[in-house]
Amino acid sequence: MDALTLISQEHSNMWRLATTLDQVASDMQAGGPLESAFFEAALDYISQFVDRMHHPKEDEFLFRLLRLRSTEAADILDALEADHAQGPENLAQLRVKLAAAAQGQLPVAALAVAIQQYTDGLKRHIKTEEKQVLPLARKALLPQDWAEIDQAFRTHSDPVFGDQAKAEFRELFHRIASLAPDSVGLGASSAGSLQAATPQQPVLLKVEGLESCYGRIKALKGITLEVRKGETVALVGANGAGKTTFLRAVSGVQSISAGSIHFDGEDISKLRSDKRMRRGICQSPEGRQVFGPLSIEDNLRLGAYTQPKHQVAGDMEKIFAMFPILKEKRALPAGTLSGGQQQMLAIGRALMTNPRLMVLDEATEGLAPLIRTEIWRALAELKDEGLSLVVIDKNLGPLLELADRHFVLEKGVVVWSGSSDELRANPRIVHEYLGV
Ligand code: ATP
Repeated sequence: MDALTLISQEHSNMWRLATTLDQVASDMQAGGPLESAFFEAALDYISQFVDRMHHPKEDEFLFRLLRLRSTEAADILDALEADHAQGPENLAQLRVKLAAAAQGQLPVAALAVAIQQYTDGLKRHIKTEEKQVLPLARKALLPQDWAEIDQAFRTHSDPVFGDQAKAEFRELFHRIASLAPDSVGLGASSAGSLQAATPQQPVLLKVEGLESCYGRIKALKGITLEVRKGETVALVGANGAGKTTFLRAVSGVQSISAGSIHFDGEDISKLRSDKRMRRGICQSPEGRQVFGPLSIEDNLRLGAYTQPKHQVAGDMEKIFAMFPILKEKRALPAGTLSGGQQQMLAIGRALMTNPRLMVLDEATEGLAPLIRTEIWRALAELKDEGLSLVVIDKNLGPLLELADRHFVLEKGVVVWSGSSDELRANPRIVHEYLGV
């Protein structure tokens, strides 16, 4: 399925651009300069790329065949098409606002909000394609459909999609890169081609041959795995497989008897848990463990005790934006919160440490379905922001949506690992080790 790989690469490039726009917009809100030329170049790129390159190919080949093969597809594709039809108007409005801000007729903060609303829409669109359309295509399309689609996407002589067009987009991308402020790291040297815009992220956590015991019981018998920056890894397996022990060993509350743990290149195998936390590893433990008599605000402040004082209020506002109910109840004792709200608080408290890697043990265990959805949404947001996550949960459906890779543990060893798609396509593994 060459076409799908190409589409996903285009999505990751567009996602990266959207995230960069967000970042420049939020720098602007914080008093940074108005980056008119950068925004104009980025909007040019988006309109040209989506209208001339990305969308027509999908529309003519992938979407057309998907409508033929799947009755489920119509509603999703209709909504996407409507969204797409609205795209030029949204871009035009944004350009008007950009011009008004450049002439001092619109506050820069209002422009920043408009940009963020636009990129939210763009990201939603990409997510629908990635999470709904592409999986459906994988399921419903026939081999002859793929042959046709792949052929269309491979054709280089085509005047619209061919090499010439690609070169033109590369040029446009170079322009954005050269105009981007230094702070967002889109330097021209890193934007040699559209493809190069999504390099594989460096390894953040590297665990090799990890063993850990409870007395004479060996709970981990040589676990080896890596988590890359921005990646979400799920640990799955039956009760007693060693998942919790692994997380505790990574965060440093469980001692190890063999193997090593490296974090961002540093060997932390012998480091105490508080030092690991200062390096950026934070665990949101199973069973929440909030401090009942303390107020919600004080619980959050406790999480931030290693952070510079001036940062705490801003960080707390971010948590409140993620879980507004915590803001409403900020002065109440944490013990008065429902189980789901306490889980939100536990995640919030972990986030107050400003982690680079967050490990979560059974974050949705025992919660009502609606609250679970809230927690999964928050985790997806954190992932979108680039936080690395290691997650244990019994709910395989949402885990398959969230995680990039899964490690199946049994009796202290990794018996299988692979992507969500590979796990979906492997009912034997799901049945044998997860009992679903
Ligand atoms: P669960 O989903 O039930 O939490 P898990 O995959 O997280 O399971 P662990 O809790 O890590 O598994 O347990 C791994 C092994 O270590 C099991 O055999 C378990 O009985 C044992 N174990 C866990 N905690 C202790 C402990 N405090 N003392 C002794 N043995 C323990």
